Amino acid sequence: AKGKGTGGAALFEARMLEEQEDRRKLESDLRLAVQHSQFDVFFQPLVDMKTREIVSFEALLRWPHETRGMISPELFIPLAEETGLINQLGAWALRRACEEAANWPEHIGIAVNLSPLQFKSSSLLPTLVNTLATTGLSPKRLELEVTESALLGAEATNVTILKSIRELGVRVSMDDFGTGYSSLAYLQNFEFDKIKIDKRFIQSLESGASNAAIVDAIIKLGIQIGIKTTAEGIETESQYDSVVLRGCSEGQGYLFSRPLTAEDARAAISSKLPI
Ligand code: C2E
Ligand code: CA
Ligand code: CA
Ligand code: CA
Repeated sequence: AKGKGTGGAALFEARMLEEQEDRRKLESDLRLAVQHSQFDVFFQPLVDMKTREIVSFEALLRWPHETRGMISPELFIPLAEETGLINQLGAWALRRACEEAANWPEHIGIAVNLSPLQFKSSSLLPTLVNTLATTGLSPKRLELEVTESALLGAEATNVTILKSIRELGVRVSMDDFGTGYSSLAYLQNFEFDKIKIDKRFIQSLESGASNAAIVDAIIKLGIQIGIKTTAEGIETESQYDSVVLRGCSEGQGYLFSRPLTAEDARAAISSKLPI
């Protein structure tokens, strides 16, 4: 066909350049946004499975970009990790989340996501201690969510880091459980307070018996080793019914609530209603 060959290659190259240009622009925008703390933290409720009352919130970062609109963390967190901005951004998110939670009733907790890079950074513990002290949040109300990838490599070091976090009185959850390749080994070697069952398992509950069997096994495992389980990504009543039935302790998902602004989260707390 006409236009193939060198023309196609040139076009391809032009697109590559454009993409590189685009990425560089996004990177410098991210740097500026981190410098000026131009992010929002949203709060998504986690509910007690039996009562559907709010027990805590997960803090989720949002980047309102002036020309691109709201940019998803799925896009900018990896970019922040590649550019080394994640420590500063993560510390900001932690502070913002703790600051907000410090004004909530004592029985409501806050969960904050930790990038593997933050987990391994020597600044993690000082940042935690400092944030708890300056916001006045009781450590027992804070929970950190880490994924398996944080635990790859140097096992002894990771055990020590986990231990020192828990010695502060802060709890640690294993996020996206089941999506990595050594989840079970990690449960054996590290002490966690909670397992979060990845939403892909919850959302495929009705599409095949094996998915249901996996969810079933994770919840049973949690019960047997005395670790709470949270099912994330619950969107329908029938997904809810099926995880409640299996004995899962907490739930999170659009069925109960989408991530809320700080203001809406406060309103949801004061309404005291099951959701
Ligand atoms: P995650 O930690 O697995 O967070 C749960 C994600 O599932 C959130 O996406 C949440 O909005 C979404 N979600 C909750 N319920 C439902 C549901 O019923 N259906 C569907 N389809 N989705 C649901 P979000 O906010 O876009 O965050 C994406 C990821 O970005 C998070 O996944 C987390 O890995 C990362 N992230 C967000 N905030 C932070 C942060 O402050 N620090 C770090 N390191 N990562 C963050
Ligand atoms: Ca999470
Ligand atoms: Ca998750
Ligand atoms: Ca995830």
